[in-house]
Amino acid sequence: MKLQIENLVKLQNLDREIANMLGNEEAQASDSDFDFDSLEKLDKMRRKRVRLAKTIDKRIIRYYERLKGNKGDKNAVVPVVNAVCQGCNISVPTSTAAKLQRKDSITTCDHCGRFIYSV
Ligand SMILES: [Zn+2]
Repeated sequence: MKLQIENLVKLQNLDREIANMLGNEEAQASDSDFDFDSLEKLDKMRRKRVRLAKTIDKRIIRYYERLKGNKGDKNAVVPVVNAVCQGCNISVPTSTAAKLQRKDSITTCDHCGRFIYSV
């Protein structure tokens, strides 16, 4: 299970990169010399995302996508620092903190519902 949360964090980072690239593409849309290199890079990242998504439980992916849609802030997976969720800044219960330390399951914040992991 440890692998899943690690991959989920990777997936979120990849989503951010893709979103950034798409933003750049739009900004350059009126540019006459179209950047095929970045288009190729984007394609590679999308394929990497598909591969990565396959390593994660489908239910988790679905929940992740929903969180991303709802929160809209691209922070569906957040770290817990000093037992405080970095998504909503509220302390997580001791039991949740202990669960996080074991790193054997995917946990969500009781308050904001985001996926949380210990750093
Ligand atoms: Zn939270």
